Amino acid sequence: MYNWGLSVNLGKSKIVVFRKGGNLSKLDCFTFQGNSIEIVKEYKYLGVSFYWNGNFKNHFKERAASARIGIYSIWRFINGNSPIIAKFKVFDAIYKAILIYAAQSWGNIRSDALESVQRFFIRKLFNLPFNTPNYILLLECGRYSIFLSAFKLHLRYLLKISQMNNNRYPYICYKDGIDNNVGWFVELNKLSNEAGLSINLKTSHSLIEKAKYFEKLLLILHEQEKQSLFSSVNKSQFHLLYKTLKTDFLMENYMLDNNLPHEYVQLIFGARCESLSVKYKPWLKNNASEYKCIFCNSGESDTILHVISNCDRFTLARKKYFNSAYISVAENVLVMQKVY
Ligand SMILES: [Zn+2]
Repeated sequence: MYNWGLSVNLGKSKIVVFRKGGNLSKLDCFTFQGNSIEIVKEYKYLGVSFYWNGNFKNHFKERAASARIGIYSIWRFINGNSPIIAKFKVFDAIYKAILIYAAQSWGNIRSDALESVQRFFIRKLFNLPFNTPNYILLLECGRYSIFLSAFKLHLRYLLKISQMNNNRYPYICYKDGIDNNVGWFVELNKLSNEAGLSINLKTSHSLIEKAKYFEKLLLILHEQEKQSLFSSVNKSQFHLLYKTLKTDFLMENYMLDNNLPHEYVQLIFGARCESLSVKYKPWLKNNASEYKCIFCNSGESDTILHVISNCDRFTLARKKYFNSAYISVAENVLVMQKVY
């Protein structure tokens, strides 16, 4: 750079000594034209915060904070009556530009800081309480984790650099990673094993073979994630209603009905995950008299099912919307599956 007639700003130039642990030796000092260059623990380069031990936690935290600001800035749009699909498209644009920025290099890392942004968006969008289970948030909207999008970018990048000229730095790093079992390669093998796949990248494979392998790996990881969400539904002790309601991974139909006002969509989601403001909460103790409905004399607990099925207070509304003064629990489940 110096030979090209460019000057170096030592105020902005820093050194990060990447290492697995331990303190720096006193001999670790760097100078440029007699001036020493400061050694720092962390440096932000092209928008990515690099930490001395290779940890991206700070980077993820910063990105998550920026994405939340992005979501707040479009709050009026989120809370308006435009289609839910359009709102998710805007969210997708935000998370692709901000959250998974530079995931080509770190996309094999799972980060709850990043995942929490998607959950935050869904909670805000549907006005759900903080304790709505994470699996319901994703399942109801048919959404996968942020990790899977990041990992896809990472795999695409690996594929790209594996085809580069042998003298290019990315290729040299790729080759070194494989030969010396560097972090990303260990992680790739771990995920492959979990997916029940095995490919030895140490031996040579054609571009097509590698592409097919990565595609299969992604497909299996998506499938595993779906299964894990449904297994959370089945294991749930409190959200028993949701077990009967949720049958497939797709975004629920009522969210796709553009004629439904936004607050109705919010109410339906709230009813399905039993988070509307009735007295009885599935996660509180059962059968206590203090949960009794005060709107009627039935003596029943004030539950979502009671309000929708047979509370006397709402017979007129039921006649109007369901054409019947009362509906059975079975009908109620059908109502919540198809929605009105
Ligand atoms: Zn009642």
